[in-house]
Amino acid sequence: MGVAAAQLTSNFRAVQDVVSGGVTVVAVIKADAYGHGAALCAAPLLAGGAEWFGVTDVAEGVDIRRNLRKSSKVPEVENSPSILVMCGMEPADAADALRYGLTPVVWTPEHIAALDAAATEAGHEVRVHVEVDTGMARQGATVGAELDEVFEALKTARWVRCEGLMTHLCSAEVAGAPSTEAARGRFERAAGQTLAAGVRPRFVHVGNSSAVDEASTLQWLRRQADLLGASCMVRPGLALYGYCLPLQGDTSVFPALRARLRPVMTWEAPVIGLRDIDAGATVGYGASFIALRPMRLALLPVGYADGFRREASSGMGDGWVMLRGRRAPVVGRVSMNLTVVDVTAGAEVRVGD
Ligand SMILES: *Cc1c(COP(=O)(O)O)cnc(C)c1O
Repeated sequence: MGVAAAQLTSNFRAVQDVVSGGVTVVAVIKADAYGHGAALCAAPLLAGGAEWFGVTDVAEGVDIRRNLRKSSKVPEVENSPSILVMCGMEPADAADALRYGLTPVVWTPEHIAALDAAATEAGHEVRVHVEVDTGMARQGATVGAELDEVFEALKTARWVRCEGLMTHLCSAEVAGAPSTEAARGRFERAAGQTLAAGVRPRFVHVGNSSAVDEASTLQWLRRQADLLGASCMVRPGLALYGYCLPLQGDTSVFPALRARLRPVMTWEAPVIGLRDIDAGATVGYGASFIALRPMRLALLPVGYADGFRREASSGMGDGWVMLRGRRAPVVGRVSMNLTVVDVTAGAEVRVGD
């Protein structure tokens, strides 16, 4: 498995160009950088100018911080870059959040109390971003009484500073979605509550890769930021690795981002065997494939245990690999650790390719 660092930073730069100046781009490297390896991805993104990373939980944040502190390429500045913990904060994590200088997303008075206690212990403040639920019903305080309770807790806390106000949209890839309209309305009310509570976050953020691609959300977000005297942030993940969901709805909105993205990951495996079979021979489990003519097969040491999905089997998903610049279709079922591909058309294929 290979990750092209230059392509990763190029995708990051594409997001920066599309959102243009004054918008901070959080490089989302949660879930082990979408399977690409967070440790592999963090260093090139940092070198490419990322000042913020987004991770799943405190444990991931701790790993990243340790890695970056160890890596000689990273300046020894304490707690730089910032690391946003996006998907859940347990009170038991508060001490590590402080120790490793993480920035948790919070949405309950309990989160704030736990962080305040840990911060008092540590003797320095902790920055948090308050999430508003605008229609996902996963995380976030609902607009109204719940959000006010969060602001109350922030007032009571001595060492917890609200640095951001954010939400997550349920249908960012659908242009003009009624649910996005509703979410914007809720967030606008949350922004009003924030002002009324005297809270002045430095950042407001809404927006994954699709929201950057779709563009209208960012225009709206800029207005919210102006109202709050804050600056905008976006949180792309998928785009960094070279992908964007298809935009739905009003296709007159030109997708600004997708045209500039290229996949970052390559996955290589060597040919470990070649075999000629006669017409009538069967291949793989279940004898699900029967050769209709003589064929030449190549064996690859990769299977579904490695993540080469069983659905790529012939007759199921009809997967293929690239071999010497040519498509070699999967033959029969993908096994746990082995896969057979058809190289009948590629007489030049050798073991070791
Ligand atoms: C995963 C996640 C993102 C990134 O979403 P992509 O669609 O991969 O760009 C942004 N914000 C939050 C809160 C997330 O959990």
